[in-house]
Amino acid sequence: MKKYRAGIIGATGMVGQRFAVLLDQHPFFEVTAIAASPRSAGKTYVEALDGRWKLDLPMPEYIKNMTVRDAGDVDGMKELCDMVFCAVDLPKAEVRALEEKYAKAEIPVVSNNSACRGLDDVPMLIPEINPDHTAVIETQKKRLGTKRGFIAVKPNCSIQSYVPLITPLLKYEPYEMVVTTYQAISGAGKTFAQWPEMIDNVIPYIGGEEEKSEKEPMKIWGKVENGVVVNAKLPVITTQCIRVPVSNGHLAAIFVKFRKNPTKEQILEAWDSFEGEPQRLKLPHAPEKFITYFEEDNRPQTKIDREIYGGMGVTAGRLREDTVYDWKFIGLSHNTLRGAAGGAVLSAEYLAVKGFFD
Ligand code: NAP
Repeated sequence: MKKYRAGIIGATGMVGQRFAVLLDQHPFFEVTAIAASPRSAGKTYVEALDGRWKLDLPMPEYIKNMTVRDAGDVDGMKELCDMVFCAVDLPKAEVRALEEKYAKAEIPVVSNNSACRGLDDVPMLIPEINPDHTAVIETQKKRLGTKRGFIAVKPNCSIQSYVPLITPLLKYEPYEMVVTTYQAISGAGKTFAQWPEMIDNVIPYIGGEEEKSEKEPMKIWGKVENGVVVNAKLPVITTQCIRVPVSNGHLAAIFVKFRKNPTKEQILEAWDSFEGEPQRLKLPHAPEKFITYFEEDNRPQTKIDREIYGGMGVTAGRLREDTVYDWKFIGLSHNTLRGAAGGAVLSAEYLAVKGFFD
């Protein structure tokens, strides 16, 4: 496999730091450029961070003395990269403009940002679920007027604790869901040191999160028609998204009604056997098992289960019949690994294997 030269835009942020670790000695990608805001540009990575390293893991050696570039210097980045990973904290319109600037400069972008998620010619990938959505890249290239430049995105972190669990049950025709998510503070790019108000506290509001949690699954479950993604209409989903005092890991409580109500054994069998292209292709960040079900009543727990398969697996538990809905259960995923940088790296691995960066 050819190694691609990769850039990280937003390398100094919470998600950018995860990219830095995940891409250390990666078999497909070598980080050759890093970029952030003009505030960080010209400094070494260590200088730019100035004590803002947020992970429990050590900072990789390769990146410490790399010079951070200005993310807006697309021409400079183009000299150094075959593709870029992007996770920047900017207003949506500016993110879209920045990502399209890279794509139009013929640099493919794999993004964590939400700015382009709603576009029907931008694939929003969970590679186990909808790798076929990469077909819309051709349509996008026509719109952008590019030969190899395009944008691919990953969905919001919150949906990754329930969309993987519902997907293998779609054959039973779920039509109505209620989901409450209990989301970690790293989802806001924060640690407890930076957000002490979250200690011993719960905040019943995460701006924009409920809309994303209800809408984005419909695109993931959509079909490619005439070169674009046409969103699914069912199941309808209503959500509440709550910030809880947890460092990493988004947990979801899910209630669901089915037109063809499955048995408990059928649900467990569907979860147990669910695998996708990443597993078949043995991609470097593919979890060996996508969904792991725990029989214990007190699992999954964020602290002990979020790191399963390097934070790329999804866990489930407490599957039981409900008095109002058909079934209820709990899901859990790591928000900055499966839900952010890890999901983007897995998508990029899939795109690399399929030749999208050539
Ligand atoms: P963060 O920790 O606040 O990092 C923000 C990054 O954006 C930093 O590298 C920062 O660079 C850069 N930046 C700020 N202003 C910029 C500018 N004018 N030009 C270029 N770069 C600029 O945020 P984060 O948590 O990593 O999130 C980044 C993105 O990923 C957001 O869109 C977020 O919604 C999304 N996301 C986050 C998660 C999560 O779990 N945290 C999950 C999914 C998606 P400086 O250091 O130079 O300021």
